[in-house]
Amino acid sequence: MGAKRLVIASGNRNKIEEIRDLTKGLGLEVVGIHDLGDFPPVIEDGATFRDNARKKALETARLVQELVLADDSGLEVDALGGAPGVYSARYAGVDGDDEANNRLLLHKLEGIPLEQRGAQFRCVMALAAPTGEVEYSEGICRGIITFEPRGNSGFGYDPLFLVPEYGKTFAELGPEIKNTISHRSMAMAGMLKLLSRV
Ligand code: IMP
Repeated sequence: MGAKRLVIASGNRNKIEEIRDLTKGLGLEVVGIHDLGDFPPVIEDGATFRDNARKKALETARLVQELVLADDSGLEVDALGGAPGVYSARYAGVDGDDEANNRLLLHKLEGIPLEQRGAQFRCVMALAAPTGEVEYSEGICRGIITFEPRGNSGFGYDPLFLVPEYGKTFAELGPEIKNTISHRSMAMAGMLKLLSRV
């Protein structure tokens, strides 16, 4: 009998490779959605990360009739009541314009002192079966929004997200350390427990 398959509802090659690496030893064959054909993107119009992860995982599981893992993540800033939240990727209007998003975030926090610049990255993962069953895991990483960008690695809000324990931003820490403390790695740790039971 062949290995049980896990489909990742993401076009991001790095994400798929990372999940393949982390699930080594579970006897799962990990494939990206684009390895199975051309599918229309799932519209992420949920009010929460959980809604979006659920929608992506469930719609894809019903379409491909296999076990599907999806995630959704973003930045929640305390002084902005949790914004940009589910709008993180398109905060400044254009999807994926990291520089514009970072500029807008600094602008919104103008005049806000260090002690009120707390924020967190949140990641929710959903594991869906074609039968409609869905299970979740969640990870949070707390930090502080800096006054200017620092560091060159990573993506998104990484240059503005300072981790107090290290005194460095995600963009200064680089992938090795970031991947051990990030919201995504915390969510993945929970997901590995769920996957070890499938
Ligand atoms: P997605 O869950 O991959 O769609 O990410 C949504 C958006 O949240 C990204 O486009 C980034 O703006 C932001 N984001 C999520 N995770 C991170 C991270 O680890 N570093 C920086 N920005 C992130």
